[in-house]
Amino acid sequence: MNVQFKNAKILKTRDDHGFEIVDGELWVKGNEIFYIGDGKDAEHTDCQDPIVWENPIDCEGNLLIPGFKNAHTHTPMTFLRSYADDMPLQDWLTKQVFPKEAQLTKEDVYWLDILGVMEYLTSGITSNFDMYLFPVENAKAFRDCGFRSVQTSGINNFSYSVKEVEEHYLAINEMGELNSFILGFHAEYTTSKEIMQGIGELAHKYKSPVFLHNAETKREVAECKERWGMTPTALTDALDLYRFGGGGYHMVHMEEADFEIMKKRNLFAVTNPCSNLKLASGIAPIKRYLDENIPLAIGTDGPASNNALDFFREMYLMTALAKVREEDASCVPAEEVLYAATAGGAHAMNLTDCDRLAVGKKADLVMIDLNQPNMQPENNLVKNLVYSGSKSNVKLTMVNGQILYKDHQFRIGFDPKEIYDRANAIISRMN
Ligand SMILES: [Zn+2]
Repeated sequence: MNVQFKNAKILKTRDDHGFEIVDGELWVKGNEIFYIGDGKDAEHTDCQDPIVWENPIDCEGNLLIPGFKNAHTHTPMTFLRSYADDMPLQDWLTKQVFPKEAQLTKEDVYWLDILGVMEYLTSGITSNFDMYLFPVENAKAFRDCGFRSVQTSGINNFSYSVKEVEEHYLAINEMGELNSFILGFHAEYTTSKEIMQGIGELAHKYKSPVFLHNAETKREVAECKERWGMTPTALTDALDLYRFGGGGYHMVHMEEADFEIMKKRNLFAVTNPCSNLKLASGIAPIKRYLDENIPLAIGTDGPASNNALDFFREMYLMTALAKVREEDASCVPAEEVLYAATAGGAHAMNLTDCDRLAVGKKADLVMIDLNQPNMQPENNLVKNLVYSGSKSNVKLTMVNGQILYKDHQFRIGFDPKEIYDRANAIISRMN
């Protein structure tokens, strides 16, 4: 599909994490951005190879932005949404989440993923960094929707083997342009040293970054120090897991030496503000990460611990919580939040072709409806997006040049009612 977006405002990302907005047209040829400009200097056809354009889309002055990158999630946990809330984290995990997950089949995961994709599209999310039990089934579900997805291994003491992780790595990285796999494991508190070392060997063999849940709770860090005499960040660095980079999900309870390791290894901090609030885990030191030039990305975490897959809520809380933590209303400006939500996430997920709107980049983009009261007046559209924007402003979501969501209608090849029925049937079946 070749699509011409006309009469648009186009958000362009700068390397200094700022943005500028140009009025004009953005054309998508195949899966790439082919042209951005006023339309006058562009060649509409190529004599050798005429381009067939779909009917142009009149954006009516609305804003095109790069898609949000959900840099940490467990998508199939849609089935546990609002099932076991308002519990202490350890009880929630061991008495509710783990026993229910043990009853999931690979087919369940497939359908639950599609429910998650639908919610992502309504929130302007164009790719996810997913950790779950069956990575290959995960990858297939996202691919079948036309959605871009990066899998990471959630290996721990109770799941599959390091050898199987290698099989997942090879299978998913060969699955096609919408799928990729980055090495990882669940967390220090669920994973033996031998498994962590095994992941490290694979990371060296394949030159892959490594990601894990890290420093989510005070208890996790304290117990790691009791076991190993060091923080999870120091332990994983001592095991030489970060030779090719990587990072951590949550990264809330950090010690001084941890920041030095992150800088030395170029590690990403993937923040999950909603999940950290709901599970009473704490508030991440976002200002410190920015001050230290430690790269940031944003994730929703799974829908059982959030419970929404809503990037506008994450963006608002990322900056609002940082302001409260630092008692400084000037810290963590909206531009840094939007950068983390788009380019930062893309870089963490090794999707550098999807990080911004520019010629030659992949067409992963969102049309934001400005013709709604919460986006007016247009004093500063970046501030509007972060401080007053909402899912209701998402008018169109395009992934890899394909429109997957437009005007509240999904174009992913599945009937929404069937997906809702399947999700309800899966959780109803469990005991
Ligand atoms: Zn998580």
